Amino acid sequence: MLYLSTRGHAEQKRFCDILLEGLAPDGGLYMPVQYPQIDDAKLTALRETLQNQGYAALAFEILSLYIDDIPAEDLRALCNKTYTEAVFGTAAIVPVRQLEGQLMIEALSNGPTLAFKDMAMQLLGNLFEYELARRGEELNILGATSGDTGSAAEYAMRGKKGVRVFMTSPHGRMSPFQQAQMFSLQDENIHNIAIEGVFDDCQDIVKAVSNDHAFKAQYKIGTVNSINWARLLAQVVYYFAGYLQATSKNSEKVSFTVPSGNFGNVCAGHVARQMGLPIAKLVVATNENDVLDEFFRTGVYQVRGAAHTFETSSPSMDISKASNFERFVFDLVGRDGARLQQLFSQGVAQEGRFDLQADPAFKDAAGRYGFVSGKSSHADRLATIQDTYQRLGQMIDTHTADGVKVAREHLGAEPMIVLETALPIKFAATIEEALGHLPERPAKFDGIEALPKRVVVMPADVDQVKTYIKDHCR
Ligand SMILES: *Cc1c(COP(=O)(O)O)cnc(C)c1O
Repeated sequence: MLYLSTRGHAEQKRFCDILLEGLAPDGGLYMPVQYPQIDDAKLTALRETLQNQGYAALAFEILSLYIDDIPAEDLRALCNKTYTEAVFGTAAIVPVRQLEGQLMIEALSNGPTLAFKDMAMQLLGNLFEYELARRGEELNILGATSGDTGSAAEYAMRGKKGVRVFMTSPHGRMSPFQQAQMFSLQDENIHNIAIEGVFDDCQDIVKAVSNDHAFKAQYKIGTVNSINWARLLAQVVYYFAGYLQATSKNSEKVSFTVPSGNFGNVCAGHVARQMGLPIAKLVVATNENDVLDEFFRTGVYQVRGAAHTFETSSPSMDISKASNFERFVFDLVGRDGARLQQLFSQGVAQEGRFDLQADPAFKDAAGRYGFVSGKSSHADRLATIQDTYQRLGQMIDTHTADGVKVAREHLGAEPMIVLETALPIKFAATIEEALGHLPERPAKFDGIEALPKRVVVMPADVDQVKTYIKDHCR
């Protein structure tokens, strides 16, 4: 399998080459040259694989369709090492449960940091370690986090050979639980840098360091952001696992509702659907930050500035610009790299928007590709958490609540699977606001706020961050 850039100007590459790269050199995102097709017989085989051998074996089957530069036995071993009951809490890894009627929930949030990003990041950690060892190289991952991504990256990379993580976060602005999760890690290859500033300051520092090409090359700086194709690919697997658990034969369809921010999660659903998985609808659920809902309703993609990006009680969806959206638009415009270039490097980059309202392709978003959308507010979130708990006896987190609210607006005859992207304990304050009491805490997190913390505090100063990296790079 070869990968091309959405903007059409980069050379085509194989999986392990794009694994360690971020954006393509032309500023685009990597996509497979085609989607491998799953026919009826193959889907039956995958059903048997999941039933008889479990999630890791299913993951191997899907990944091997896209990865041909890692020997099969090595790839299988990497999947087996990643998707274990010890790491993900259940033998099913992503168990599907009924909420009510045909409304179901697929739990993606039982990994080490209790959010769905573990599903991909844990695999990425093992892939990085494998590929860096094979090349005899090292990588220093520099990132910025406001919570979920940073902790998922640190738990995936801790103790991995050849990899160091330098994670910046806004000092004092993450929840005490999130801070404890990250700062209690004592692994030598994990470095927490709390920046005296806001999340944007952290992101600016990462950008400034990455734009210093000499520094970047000398100190082998890399990233693990959500545009990495390997992360997206790992996520494709749980759409298959969800479908196979919710159906008993291949003629049945299901729909998925996905709490969305950067469009990474639901883009994996799009890939699964393009491979032939019988998905009726892909429902994009946003919070008050509704750039994506606006696009799917109107055809206008209008990114927002920091002043128009709201801080909400489903904070992992507080985005103003969906970094993976370009992948879907690439398919929507018939994989026309020149058109894509025009929409993103002129439209979005220069005018902050593009408008496909009058473009015949726009009707394909819903028609041919099955996308619909909806949004949820703080009041909706509280009401959904209350109703789900009091009437149905299940406690859900704030992001999943956005999903459940929007899923109800798009119910059809087929099963509707809402992806559970985090556990309630991560957003305890809003749960308490909704229910009047705090969520239960999984035993392994008892008392983590009291553990010793490993973090350095620094002003928002690029040179100080660079010096810190230099000093801790060997
Ligand atoms: C990251 C995240 C999301 C959004 O996922 P995207 O891939 O950015 O659309 C939703 N919920 C939770 C809990 C997250 O951590």
